[in-house]
Amino acid sequence: MAKITPMMQQYFEIKEQYKHCLLFFRLGDFYEMFFEDAVIASKELEITLTGKDWGQEERAPMCGVPFHSADGYIARLVERGYKVAICEQVEDPKTAKGLVKRDVVRVITPGTVVDNTVLDETKNNYILSVFSSANGYGIAVCDVTTGEFQTTEFRSVQAAAKILDETARFSPAELVCNSEFLSTPLAKEIEERFHLYLNDIDSRMYEYNTAKDTLLAHFKVKTLESFGLQKKLLAVSASGALMWYLNETQKNDLSHISALKYYTTGDFMLLDVSSRRNLELTETMREKNKKGSLLSVLDKTQTAMGARLLRKWVEQPLLSKEEINQRLDGVEELFQDLFLREEIKEILHSMYDFERIMSRVVYQNANARDLAALKNSVENLPLLKKILSRCKSPYLSTLHDRLDTLENIHALIAQSIVEDPPFSVREGGMIREGFNEELDTYTKAKENGTTWIHQLEEEEREKTGIKNLKVRYNKVFGYYIEVTKSNLELVPEGYIRKQTLANAERFITPELKELEELILGAEDKITTLEYDMFCEIRNAVAAEVERIQYCAYIVSVIDCLQSLAEVAQNRSYVKPLVDDGDVIEIKGGRHPVVEKMMDGQFIPNDTYLDREDTRLAIITGPNMAGKSTYMRQTALIVLMAQIGSFVPAEQAHIGIVDRIFTRVGASDDLSAGQSTFMVEMTEVANILHNATNKSLLILDEIGRGTSTFDGLSIAWAVLEYIADTKQIGAKTLFATHYHELSELEGKLSGVKNYCIAVQEQGEDIIFLRKIQRGGADHSYGVQVARLAGLPNKVIRRSGQILKQLNAADITKKAKQIAVESKEQQEETAQQMDMFHIAETQLADEISKLDVMAMTPIEALQTLFELQKKA
Ligand code: ADP
Repeated sequence: MAKITPMMQQYFEIKEQYKHCLLFFRLGDFYEMFFEDAVIASKELEITLTGKDWGQEERAPMCGVPFHSADGYIARLVERGYKVAICEQVEDPKTAKGLVKRDVVRVITPGTVVDNTVLDETKNNYILSVFSSANGYGIAVCDVTTGEFQTTEFRSVQAAAKILDETARFSPAELVCNSEFLSTPLAKEIEERFHLYLNDIDSRMYEYNTAKDTLLAHFKVKTLESFGLQKKLLAVSASGALMWYLNETQKNDLSHISALKYYTTGDFMLLDVSSRRNLELTETMREKNKKGSLLSVLDKTQTAMGARLLRKWVEQPLLSKEEINQRLDGVEELFQDLFLREEIKEILHSMYDFERIMSRVVYQNANARDLAALKNSVENLPLLKKILSRCKSPYLSTLHDRLDTLENIHALIAQSIVEDPPFSVREGGMIREGFNEELDTYTKAKENGTTWIHQLEEEEREKTGIKNLKVRYNKVFGYYIEVTKSNLELVPEGYIRKQTLANAERFITPELKELEELILGAEDKITTLEYDMFCEIRNAVAAEVERIQYCAYIVSVIDCLQSLAEVAQNRSYVKPLVDDGDVIEIKGGRHPVVEKMMDGQFIPNDTYLDREDTRLAIITGPNMAGKSTYMRQTALIVLMAQIGSFVPAEQAHIGIVDRIFTRVGASDDLSAGQSTFMVEMTEVANILHNATNKSLLILDEIGRGTSTFDGLSIAWAVLEYIADTKQIGAKTLFATHYHELSELEGKLSGVKNYCIAVQEQGEDIIFLRKIQRGGADHSYGVQVARLAGLPNKVIRRSGQILKQLNAADITKKAKQIAVESKEQQEETAQQMDMFHIAETQLADEISKLDVMAMTPIEALQTLFELQKKA
């Protein structure tokens, strides 16, 4: 076999260590990819696949991107879930002996990108680490762009569901785990549900002692006690392995990850995956975007940092009465004092995302523009503090006290960096005059040199009599004198010819070269000096990362409070009374999102639930009456109150709930191989296992996915179980088609009937959208079908069938109707309007029935089915 070229040998050695990555191999001004990597990248990036000789018969597939525009290409690959390893030349090619040394300097993965062009600034970019063991699970989550790092562990049998819930809460961009986890069905489910790529990392890194050592080394501490991690073995494993992975990929200073927080899911309202989706907290179910979500209504934040925190608040409503009311009081103060709010808003508006700027500062990626943005962001902190000093509510006062105005950091940057610095940190022009004497000397020399060049130009023109003689500069020749062809005879003795062009010649003189040396020498010095000084300033700022991060957090909280106050005012929300009691009483409640879309047409409704007589409300009413809207609105109002937000109502008293469960309609993301009914029942099972008497349950059309009688029986039994205080006794809104369930009021304690009113008007109905006591006695399905535009004949016929079915002795009657319908069918068939295909099919189906062979129940079921088709 022929010999492989040394460079390719180097390539293989490096690639061997980064098998799971696309290797960007630096060659001069390009990053090249080879073999399989090249094939993938050329396809994904739509760039040409070429080849390179590597000492073998066939050329190696190759493609490349210019290094100066690599960021965009890397971003595209990472967005698609690839990992990219950046391999640089790590020694100067000019001084290198033999082959230039190369090494991977960074690995960029979906969960560890820090590039602004890829990241949504209103969202955290999390990477989640899951450790699965026989004792349960540990998880750790980190956002490298902000330094946030949290961990927890679960030692219960229900842990698998918890992992799913936490994944939903953080919605990470990447998930790493131990290999044991990777092979579980749960891992597969996560992969499908959240469209995530799961990667296992070296299992040894999850071993407790190794993981602990990684954390101790990173935080430079002797024990993990200060993080509350004693006896949290699973959490330590998950966090330590994650830290190792971050070090491996970033290969950079990670000192902005300055703390590890142990949290428990008990700190927040529990929301399972489907409830989050159903309630459309941060994205809508169909389009999966923010527009139309609760967050989109509540988000009037002024800073990206505030936007990220508000998203977290919405994702994790609180349980503590004190914490909730603390936020509510803060919102109230800003709600009442418009002037105060406007002043705060204006300051926030001028702030950049300095939380993320700090991660670039620590990474030494930040340029002078980033520092200038940081300076501008902190410029008004003293003013903000002064404004906040007027606040009376305890929370805002605390925020005032804790707000660090970072004046020394502002001063450092303001004194050193110019107002509008250039993008590059290697070309000078960043440092202010007067900041450093040595630098000023060189700047002066450069300026003088330039003036002298101008003078020299003048002198030469006079001396030679060449009026259009010019002194110019280019990178190849440096400074030169240019004389047009027509004036060549005037060129004096001492000029040295350098270059001939079409209509001019270029010369140099010893004097010109002397000046050039002075200017270029000064320039060189300036750029090196400026770069060194800039790095020093950047390091000084990096050393303050913890203070700046904390300040960013305080600013985010203020931003969230003002956002909630602003929304409350714009949308006429009220401050809810929140306590630990068992009453949920809402007067004139509205759905925050539907209301916004309807622009004043929304009809408010009351809700009352308690622990005693009105625990479970059975809500009937025709399709389209507004049942789902009403139930979701109740859930959202409770949730908003627990976020600390005002609520869309005239008045609201909310007893804190520990969880909200919703089971609404058919899920549209069916896992492979599961029927709609199966999914529905799995979700109901989850609710029945996990709900408590402090929970709020929203159940819409339980049992719809199966036959009428099965469905009715299941709904009935579920309802009894929930209403029973010995079993669950949760506050529940239960919407149903089955009017038979109205029979339960008075028989089961805590159950009350409600319906959403409609008014009959001739053959039509008008939706009143008002909830009222009592069960609905009609479904008005036929009327709703008419509204939907079913052919008149079908409507009329279904009306007839319905009338007969509704009469007493339903079973006997069904049999009779079935026979009658056959006769009638024949009659009608003759009059059939040939254009109504739907009607013809219906008639066909009815005539094919073997009525005499049917049991009464089958007949009734068939009629129900037919009615549905009509
Ligand atoms: P159901 O669940 O009873 O089938 P929905 O809750 O889906 O009905 O409501 C149907 C439509 O009625 C909604 O899309 C909404 O536009 C409208 N609607 C619901 N509630 C109200 C209300 N309180 N005020 C005005 N319009 C409403």
